[in-house]
Amino acid sequence: MLTFSPQRQANLAAALARVQEEIAQAAQDTSGARTAASPLPELLVVTKFFPASDVAALYQLGVRQVGENRDQEAAPKAQELAQELAGDEPLRWSFIGQAQTNKAKSIVRYASSLQSLDRPSLAQALSKAYLKQLARYENGEAPAPAALADGGLSCLIQVNLDLSQQASAGQAAWGARGGAAPSQILELAQLVADLPGLTLGGLMAVAPLGQDPAPAFERLYGYSQQLQAEFPQAKQISAGMSGDLAQAIRWGSSQVRVGSQIMGPRPAAASA
Ligand SMILES: *Cc1c(COP(=O)(O)O)cnc(C)c1O
Repeated sequence: MLTFSPQRQANLAAALARVQEEIAQAAQDTSGARTAASPLPELLVVTKFFPASDVAALYQLGVRQVGENRDQEAAPKAQELAQELAGDEPLRWSFIGQAQTNKAKSIVRYASSLQSLDRPSLAQALSKAYLKQLARYENGEAPAPAALADGGLSCLIQVNLDLSQQASAGQAAWGARGGAAPSQILELAQLVADLPGLTLGGLMAVAPLGQDPAPAFERLYGYSQQLQAEFPQAKQISAGMSGDLAQAIRWGSSQVRVGSQIMGPRPAAASA
């Protein structure tokens, strides 16, 4: 049993309500990419560094989407929650951190989506791991991959929005420093669309440190438009965190990823 104090749950409930209100407010701003008809962005609660019991408390409050950035932490947490919630409405886990290819096997067991796809080798590893898990499931040897009901692991291509890094990168290496270069998006999208076991969801980005996030999110919106011209299914834009979610929503974010504003401050040494 995952237990939590009523006080902790009340704090989480109040913080969730505040963030949902902020999202609703930001969604009324039609000075950027949004129109009055644009859907309300989804909220992904980033639970990294917080215990499985907090995730259970959030689930009771109606949260069905959580994000984690390290497999060593996410895998055991997802397992604990799966035992707790057996038979209930599923909790969806998004992997949002830099992923090593040797983690693909673990990630496909619990993740419905991976938002940090930044290089071909990771796409290939995820496809292979997904197919292997599926084959073992069909042989009755293992649970189904978490994304089976969705028809595959939804992948978002993480884009590096830092222009200074792009300028100095020259022929940018794949996945250099927090995302693919914008010039690599279409090639990576084609690969994801072609690989079995994966579906192409759209784009993800983090605003560059120490810069005004609005122009960066505006560029991301432009990249998303270019992507959708060739891959109409790739509509998602995952952008906006605790400090910049309003600007991200203004520029078309369809999902904000909020950690500290809901969960509270992370331990200082571990804030990455
Ligand atoms: C930690 C993290 C978040 C949440 O950040 P907060 O500022 O705590 O809201 C969002 N996205 C990614 C990729 C993260 O690693």
